[in-house]
Amino acid sequence: MNRDPRYDILFEPVRIGPVTARNRFYQVPHCTGIGWTQPETLARLRGIKAEGGWAVVATEETEIHPTADCEPFHEGRLWDDRDIPAMALMADAVHEHGALAAIEIMHHGASVANWGTRLAPIGPSHRPIIYGYPVQARAVDKQDIRDLRRWHREAALRAKRAGFDIVYVYATHDLSIAQQFLERRKNDRTDEYGGSLENRARLLRELIEDTKDAVGDRCAVAVRFCADELMGDAGLTHDGEARDVVEMLAELPDLWDINISNWPNDSQTSRFAKEGFQEEYTRWVKQVTSKPVVGVGRFTSPDTMVSQIRRGILDFIGAARPSIADPFLPKKIEEGRIDEIRECIGCNMCVSSDYTQTNLRCTQNPTMGEEWRRGWHPEIIAPKKSDGSVLVVGAGPAGLEAALSAARRGFEVHLAEAGNELGGRVIRESRLPGLAEWVRVRDWRVTQLERMANVSVYRDSKLEAEHVLEFGARHVAVATGSTWRKDGVGRDSGFPVPGFDADNIYTPDDVMSGRDPDAGPVIIWDDDHYYMGGVLAELCRHAGHEVTIVTPAAMVSAWTVNTLESLPIAKRIARMGITVLPYTSVRSFGGGKALLANGLTGAETEVAAGALVTVTARLPSDGLYLDLQQVQNRWGDAGIATVTRIGDCWAPSTIQQAVYTGHKWARELDEAPEELLPRELPMIESGRVKVPS
Ligand code: ADP
Ligand code: SF4
Repeated sequence: MNRDPRYDILFEPVRIGPVTARNRFYQVPHCTGIGWTQPETLARLRGIKAEGGWAVVATEETEIHPTADCEPFHEGRLWDDRDIPAMALMADAVHEHGALAAIEIMHHGASVANWGTRLAPIGPSHRPIIYGYPVQARAVDKQDIRDLRRWHREAALRAKRAGFDIVYVYATHDLSIAQQFLERRKNDRTDEYGGSLENRARLLRELIEDTKDAVGDRCAVAVRFCADELMGDAGLTHDGEARDVVEMLAELPDLWDINISNWPNDSQTSRFAKEGFQEEYTRWVKQVTSKPVVGVGRFTSPDTMVSQIRRGILDFIGAARPSIADPFLPKKIEEGRIDEIRECIGCNMCVSSDYTQTNLRCTQNPTMGEEWRRGWHPEIIAPKKSDGSVLVVGAGPAGLEAALSAARRGFEVHLAEAGNELGGRVIRESRLPGLAEWVRVRDWRVTQLERMANVSVYRDSKLEAEHVLEFGARHVAVATGSTWRKDGVGRDSGFPVPGFDADNIYTPDDVMSGRDPDAGPVIIWDDDHYYMGGVLAELCRHAGHEVTIVTPAAMVSAWTVNTLESLPIAKRIARMGITVLPYTSVRSFGGGKALLANGLTGAETEVAAGALVTVTARLPSDGLYLDLQQVQNRWGDAGIATVTRIGDCWAPSTIQQAVYTGHKWARELDEAPEELLPRELPMIESGRVKVPS
């Protein structure tokens, strides 16, 4: 297919100082949870982005010195020359596919505890470090600043030797010492690095000049900068000091990579921000510099991208999450395959990998993070190695992904769904407040399935064991999902909670199927701690009910700290007038009341409750699977070789995990299943990275 000429502008080459990007698609630096621990894994992941058509592929934040130690987070590392080979692996992998390799070297200043190296963190002034540790950064003196500049310069030289084409100076997300010097609230120095904005910007200016001087002959120097901190006058603002800094340094770097600070502001989920949400803060940058500007905004629509370029907002379409959900996004636009773009849903499961220090994962792209370890490629899947058809029962995220991936391997695929709509839980959940974009998990898969000649879809087809035997497919995947428990059993209580058999106890399934808990004040019993309790509270509040969230956790939707949403959720819940009772459990329900127990004091109180929505745990809907096990002696005659549970039917989990297990099943259905083998162990030797021979 040919590219739509409307999108030609996206494929114009753009010069960045001494280098030229082949088009306007720019994978900005993003974390992976992998960092320095697995060099081959990282190189393969980034190389595939280059193969997918991105003109620039960047590292994650890369530590330049042991006083910028992100442990326990896994980021890039370029402390000394011994780290060069590992970084060079990535640069080579990116170059192999004709893209430019960028590296975000940085000193983290007062944002890291140096918990691994045990060195005192440094910052402009004496301040506690930003995140989570009872540690303070000490104010740097003049010698420290000279050292810091030297470390940054040496790291830039090492980056050049590793083969990188673009070297960053980083001043955003509140994570870098250069930004901390700029911030009035963090800088109370009285020397030439404090006071006036010019003084506070001195370090940033020096780092840019040093970097240009060190590597600018061959490498472009990019500045990653925040257009706004979204905290009004307490921080840098797009119509105040942030703009003044860009005006002051406008022509110094070769490129401005602009976003909003901090990370939770920059990577907002679709529950809180839509495509292009940063424009109101970043649209002025191109007016004050002649240098190319890259910006982000969870761009997945080529029309929006073209509009950003044509209206003079950006020169490059920056992307982290859209490049994770679809590493081949540029290629698909280039080749006129727009409807094959696997659009990011804005759920931030990817972010959770960084927060939990595990390999990058993605709800939409099951191959992400598995490119090296399992040899998975997002666009290539091995042809089938055996004959026989495949039957997938259930068309939720697991079943859809299993059917599609098996079909891509060339199997004749039959997909049976009990309901008349495909999508399973994604259909129901995408109708909840703020989760509309999640329906993309279904839409992308259904669109691809519909055009495959080797797939038959049967709606309104609730299968039982006899049907499956009659069908006689060689491989059967049971993807029948799960249901929410009503009895209250979960983390907090291992036993059914008294009174939870009443009619006015509702499960999330009840509420999602349209039953409105309208019998008086509603209690949401959230013992799940991810999004469900919070969104159901919003739904009930929108319906006009008085709502109280009761949770044994310290805050509502506690796990969403890993998706950068915990604070926005807490704020929204509070502003909607929903009461939250943390450290509290439900002991019983009945007679228009709930008996609550405070987890700290043990005190019990009764509160009025006309209805209670219980969000505790799910049970696999595995009846069909168990029935098939009962008749295993008849499989041979029916032509069945394997019957496998996948997705929530196997073990209720996230949508991301359902998609992953569906994909894994299809990849391995005629191979020996690959258990999670540590194909690449962290390459540590005396605390340093060792490149595998
Ligand atoms: P998962 O997250 O594992 O994909 P879901 O709950 O989203 O699970 O989807 C399960 C799907 O399976 C639902 O659409 C449901 O209607 C369907 N289903 C459940 N039991 C059967 C059955 N016996 N036959 C066909 N479809 C079924
Ligand atoms: Fe987008 Fe979610 Fe994938 Fe992250 S995990 S890239 S937010 S779809």
